Amino acid sequence: MSERFTGSFTQQEPIPEAGIAAALEVLRSGRLHRYNVAAGEAGEVALLEQEFAAFTGAKYCLAVASGGYALACALRAIGVGAGDRVLTNAFTLAPVPGAIASLGAVPVFVGVTEGLVIDLDDLVAKADQAEVLMLSHMRGHICDMDRLMAICTGAGITVIEDCAHTMGATWRGVASGRHGAVGCYSSQTYKHVNSGEGGFLVTDDEEVAARAVILSGSYMLYGRHLAAPGPEVFERVKYHTPNVSGRMDNLRAALLRPQLAALPEQVARWNARYRVIEEGLRDTPGLQLVTPLDEAEQVGSSLQFLLLDWSEAAIAEVLRRCAARGVELKWFGGAEPVAFTSRYDSWRYAACAPMPASDRVLKAIIDMRLPLTFSRVDCALIARIIRAEVGAVYQSLSPAP
Ligand SMILES: *Cc1c(COP(=O)(O)O)cnc(C)c1O
Repeated sequence: MSERFTGSFTQQEPIPEAGIAAALEVLRSGRLHRYNVAAGEAGEVALLEQEFAAFTGAKYCLAVASGGYALACALRAIGVGAGDRVLTNAFTLAPVPGAIASLGAVPVFVGVTEGLVIDLDDLVAKADQAEVLMLSHMRGHICDMDRLMAICTGAGITVIEDCAHTMGATWRGVASGRHGAVGCYSSQTYKHVNSGEGGFLVTDDEEVAARAVILSGSYMLYGRHLAAPGPEVFERVKYHTPNVSGRMDNLRAALLRPQLAALPEQVARWNARYRVIEEGLRDTPGLQLVTPLDEAEQVGSSLQFLLLDWSEAAIAEVLRRCAARGVELKWFGGAEPVAFTSRYDSWRYAACAPMPASDRVLKAIIDMRLPLTFSRVDCALIARIIRAEVGAVYQSLSPAP
């Protein structure tokens, strides 16, 4: 009998008891709206923003309704409007080009490397096409941020970072999201902290911060924020900034505060699991691991590998065999997207010339979620199953791909 894995790739850990207790307090108070606070009470959202600003080292933080909202809000706050072109990754998740399109702006896709990061040579080639880059650290892979920022600074490009998969990650010790003008994060269930839905944006730019607060729907109650600029900054922007409501509420913030406090520990737990699978897959013939750059401390909340230049049929066979043994892999390269879209040619509202080098990588990406409900023993088993099935299919291929 071959071994089988029986865990669920979509089962996250429970909300910590401290978060449940704090959420019950909010429910009992009836004050769920962030600006509905009793005399002398700061409110869970304002406190969470203060804590998230401290966690990332940012001057200002705004908590919002989703990661996708944070991205669109950041674009609006830096002045992107209809018809503007915005550079972004060819390999990311649908909310990223979606945020750009939601403003009537136009995504311009930049290629992906075998390291699953933005292709900086392609970025150089396209740098004259837009004044903004929405950089997605897709699946937690961090590109050479020093070179990226040098390119963008040189070309006058403002960078917004999509850190949906890098909350808790760093580049040379600096929090992911702190290199560009604005960093955006998600607290949706499948990210690094879980409030069902939710997001953050951080920035050091006082006008961007003030505009974001007004945009999110502060109804002139911005004085209740603890991680926002002073009233004089709001005076400059408050009559010129539309309200596009997307606030976070006190219930979600209550769930998140204990999770944020525990995040560094959780990151260590993720990375321990990631390393077990990575070691288990090392030197599997036909399988290419994705190695982070030395300067990046990533969060191994998912794992990708490449089956480069494999035929579609062979990749489909690997997925079928792994699934039969309980290991749920996602193939980002399938001709038709399954469950979610993650590649530029799936977003047909944005025209794009073919990118053959990126297509070769995109076709090869196999993705696996790594929830913390998996033990390291589970991870070792998952790696054995993948190794065996990739090996079996690879051997059966003649000639080898
Ligand atoms: C999840 C995700 C987002 C935004 O997430 P929401 O579901 O809107 O909170 C943005 N970018 C990437 C790469 C994501 O995976």
